[in-house]
Amino acid sequence: MERVSAADDQKKLYDEMIELCRIADEGGMHAIWTGEHHGMNFTIAPNPFLNLIDIARRTKNVRLGTGTVIAPFWHPIRLAGEAAMTDLITDGRLDLGIARGAYSFEYERMVPGLDAWGAGQRMRELIPAIQKLWQGDYEHQGEYWQFPKTTSSPMPVQQPHPPIWVAARDPNSHEFAVANGCNVQVTPLHLGDEEVVNLIGHFNAACEKNPDRPRPQIMVLRHTYVADSEEDARRGAEELNMFYNYFGAWFKNEKPISMGLIEEITPEQAAKHPFYSPEAMRKNQIVGEAPEVIERIKSYEALGYDQFSFWIDSGMSFERKRASLERFIRDHYIDGRFEDGAQAFETLDPATGTPWALVADASAADVDRAVRAADRAFTAPAWAGLTATARGKLIARLADLVAEAAPRLARLETRDTGKIIRETGSQIAYVADYYRYYAGLADKIEGAHLPIDKPDMEVWLRREPVGVVAAIVPWNSQLFLSAVKLGPALAAGCTVVVKASEDGPAAMLEFARLVDQAGFPPGVVNILTGGPEAGRALTTHPLVAHIAFTGGPETARHIVRASAENLSRTSLELGGKSPFIVFDDADLDSAANAQVAGIFAATGQSCVAGSRLLVQRSIKDEMLARLKAKAEAIRIGAPDDMATEVGPLCTARQRDRIERIVAESLAAGARLVTGGKTPDGAGFYFPPTILDCSDSPKAASVTEELFGPVLSVVAFDDEADALRLANDTQYGLASGVFTQNLGRAHRMIRGIRAGIVWVNTYRAVSPIAPFGGHRLSGHGREGGLAAALDYTTVKTVWLRTSDDPIPDPFVMR
Ligand code: NAD
Repeated sequence: MERVSAADDQKKLYDEMIELCRIADEGGMHAIWTGEHHGMNFTIAPNPFLNLIDIARRTKNVRLGTGTVIAPFWHPIRLAGEAAMTDLITDGRLDLGIARGAYSFEYERMVPGLDAWGAGQRMRELIPAIQKLWQGDYEHQGEYWQFPKTTSSPMPVQQPHPPIWVAARDPNSHEFAVANGCNVQVTPLHLGDEEVVNLIGHFNAACEKNPDRPRPQIMVLRHTYVADSEEDARRGAEELNMFYNYFGAWFKNEKPISMGLIEEITPEQAAKHPFYSPEAMRKNQIVGEAPEVIERIKSYEALGYDQFSFWIDSGMSFERKRASLERFIRDHYIDGRFEDGAQAFETLDPATGTPWALVADASAADVDRAVRAADRAFTAPAWAGLTATARGKLIARLADLVAEAAPRLARLETRDTGKIIRETGSQIAYVADYYRYYAGLADKIEGAHLPIDKPDMEVWLRREPVGVVAAIVPWNSQLFLSAVKLGPALAAGCTVVVKASEDGPAAMLEFARLVDQAGFPPGVVNILTGGPEAGRALTTHPLVAHIAFTGGPETARHIVRASAENLSRTSLELGGKSPFIVFDDADLDSAANAQVAGIFAATGQSCVAGSRLLVQRSIKDEMLARLKAKAEAIRIGAPDDMATEVGPLCTARQRDRIERIVAESLAAGARLVTGGKTPDGAGFYFPPTILDCSDSPKAASVTEELFGPVLSVVAFDDEADALRLANDTQYGLASGVFTQNLGRAHRMIRGIRAGIVWVNTYRAVSPIAPFGGHRLSGHGREGGLAAALDYTTVKTVWLRTSDDPIPDPFVMR
């Protein structure tokens, strides 16, 4: 724990440190390391074993490391015994880090006259001595310590002894560590990656000199700050600049020290430091947004480092340390706690095709815990006892938090799914609107009173929440597609387990933080990340009452089969092959713009994409000419650039499938109007593509959902022909009609078999309007009051008002 001002409350600082440890433990970090220092507020840890024992009691899995104890301050018998006792108390979770180093301020007070060389000699005598004490009776006649036969009491739980880590810099220390079977900890401090390379060079050389010894592990310790933007990273670098100035001042031991605090350093003095500058910190320390941090850590792994230590003492506020740590971890959310999954998987940045984030991969056991938590929460007073108005307030709070966090959520979703920032930015504003709508609806879900045909009875209907809802969403627009399930389900009083898609889930995990902040009782909302295995565990779980699914028809078939197991309800929002119909009397400017929005927005990865243009033959050439010009003028580029109009597809799998279907359709007689070819270079890009399929109306691009920027055009002759083609599909999600003829518009509205008809517009949505399809496009509706009712069940209550005895029991009343 670090204390930089006399005003800092020590107990509060300690509690904050413990909170960070708890996050690290829940986040699946491997170990927590804490050091040894004396008389210094800059880094307070007079005996790391005390802290580790306390941390052991408050954490579950994390290993506990001294990073480090200072060799010359310990007698071998004492260190062997206290370390072994710690190992015993913590059930074998100890890692014992040992260094010669301390600040000269400490040497002067603890062992006057000692210098770094002398301290190193003591470390070399201490480590073999404690190893022998842990083996059995041992007598020691060394330069610094002498004692008759004795042993460690107690003995450590880990046998032959807990791992020992030597803090090493120069080649001799590396050699000593390797020769004595110890692991190695290194820290390049303020230096850059050239020092990281040097240090592993010393380690490798030491391993080569000791070919008969198994290669021990090496860990690199670096100040790490995971920023949420470049501006935030710069701020982090400035804070580290200040931290290192204080570090330097303590190290040089030249400034006055009183009551454990060193003389204040002004920001001007700090900024002027020759090699601790903010620029050097930004470059040398691990400071940046998550992708940059991951890339640096992976480069260390590639150099041969076994472990990376996230150095969090940095002079930053607790809130900033916590936020950085949480950004680093990205866990799923079960029963009100953030946890790492049984495993983790990498997600790729679709703009570059390279991994950029590591997220939890939920196992069947994780799913089971989440569903059980949701089931407990469903009847627990903390949720079931809330009034509908109070439930609404929680949802409203979530809406506010989503609105506040919109830029951050948008950036994450863009990064992880490749969806352009223009789209994610505007869509997340809608997400907040959806939550607001359902917040308001929570206390308007009414039952009914029935005018029953029996004079001595009162009969009414209660609308009750159905139970635990499993919400499964695909990769595109996960925040949005989960909002249209969570909003109504929570308004109705259900509890929910959301399974995000295995592709692009990062924003959902950030969203889980907002759910937590909003204050929902534990277990009411659980958010898991994982793939089909987690999906299967969820849909077959006996405690799930309703499965709300968005995805493809093939997966939907699995889900319906799974639902048969427990006869759980389903609502299915599936794909589409939506017709976009343009008559010769339409406003072509408007129609062409709407068509571009309908097929190229979101790079065509939209369930309502107007992917079949049915155009009256007399205006086909003109419409195609307009669309070709518009498609070719579209700015394709990096999804995080506000100027970009079409970005990459979410996955390589998706891009390859689109490429294949386009090629098959061309072979089947479609004519390429524009696009059609995967560009060279990195990322999962596919250009806006138009195929004229008027002579091949059965080509795969006309019949199959591509879920990409590919428009298939078919000409029609008259209204009847248009209607026939529009309905010549198994899907039935959306449709668009462009005409100035009111009567025709109405006839088409009646004739088209789809859940949505847009007339002279396309791709408009609102929380007030139900959304959904039929046949291969699924069933059930999202949005509007109907969606909330879908998550309820009706309970019919009969109450007899008569005081007379019940008449003849054998006559049904
Ligand atoms: P998908 O069906 O492959 O996957 C959707 C989700 O189901 C993912 O979270 C996946 O992990 C999960 N899943 C996979 N196998 C499962 C199983 N056996 N049991 C349970 N869950 C399982 O869909 P996708 O390819 O990711 O998404 C694209 C599809 O989603 C398209 O067809 C698109 O039209 C559709 N979609 C529909 C709407 C709508 O509202 N109608 C909106 C967006 C997308």
